[in-house]
Amino acid sequence: MSQQAAPFRRLAIIGIGLIGSSIARAARQWGQAAEIVCADLSESHRQQAVALGVVDAAYADAAEAVRGADLVILCVPLGAYGAVAQAMAPGLGAGTLVSDVGSSKQSVLRDVAPHLPPGVAFIPGHPVAGTEHSGPAAGFATLFQGRWCILTPPEGSDPAQLERLHGFWSAFGSKVEVMDARHHDLVLAITSHVPHLIAYNIVGTADDLQTVTQSEVIKYSAGGFRDFTRIAASDPTMWRDVFLNNKEAVLDMLQRFTEDLTALQRAIRWDDGETLFKLFSRTRAIRRAIIDAGQETAAPDFGRTGDGKQ
Ligand code: NAP
Repeated sequence: MSQQAAPFRRLAIIGIGLIGSSIARAARQWGQAAEIVCADLSESHRQQAVALGVVDAAYADAAEAVRGADLVILCVPLGAYGAVAQAMAPGLGAGTLVSDVGSSKQSVLRDVAPHLPPGVAFIPGHPVAGTEHSGPAAGFATLFQGRWCILTPPEGSDPAQLERLHGFWSAFGSKVEVMDARHHDLVLAITSHVPHLIAYNIVGTADDLQTVTQSEVIKYSAGGFRDFTRIAASDPTMWRDVFLNNKEAVLDMLQRFTEDLTALQRAIRWDDGETLFKLFSRTRAIRRAIIDAGQETAAPDFGRTGDGKQ
């Protein structure tokens, strides 16, 4: 695609880390923006992004980055959203489309929308794709290929702007789904957030054990523990903010999880093999369904679409 044909004139990415730099690379590769700029608090990330050719220019001031942009995407940790929205607001012009990639969606509406000037369209999004790495060097253009991207337009959103954003993500090979922010938060709580919490917890528990040495934990990790350690290596800042910002849905799912775990404890205590066997057979069928749907992946995320694309 030639530069003149790019659907967006200037794309401003706020936070040029793993996700932000992957979007910049993908937008460049698939000709989605004539000019790509970023803002980031970290001077070394700004320098890296320019040196890697990921962006045309990098700013410390978010308002400078968004000036003249027709698409702005927030890619900072969820805890920084309010401050970033406030900082960039003076640079936003009418007609600009603002979106994001945050892993929870109701909190984003709460933290960003009040700061946006009139005439700015705000349509949050969440590419369900990632790795356990962080920073601009960790990004790559194909991260979103074959992965879901969920858009959560607030009521009354401009359908034309939604279509532009849909087209942007589709160009990267993502499968785009539109849903309400509350539903998104529930779905992601059980498919992504609670699994991460369980992984953080089990690795922490193993680390605290006095009777089993750390070298034994490492030596015998193939017994199941190793898969948890990969998830538990995910970015601490990002995941702290996910739990603080999707509190309600995560607590809701954890309540159910705890009840079910108690039932399993009881089954073990009372030698109720039938209950254990029934559950393990049901869960084995779910695993098979995931494989049949082409969603099995060695990559560390839960976002593979059903078409089996890499
Ligand atoms: P990351 O690699 O750490 O990148 C975040 C970038 O934002 C860093 O360069 C960070 O700089 C910068 N930053 C932090 N606060 C800022 C502020 N106030 N103003 C400007 N820049 C700021 O994180 P990431 O993995 O790309 O995650 C970014 C967002 O994507 C999060 O909201 C997360 O929920 C979402 N997401 C992540 C994944 C995943 O698997 N990683 C998947 C889907 C969605 P410093 O490092 O110096 O703080």
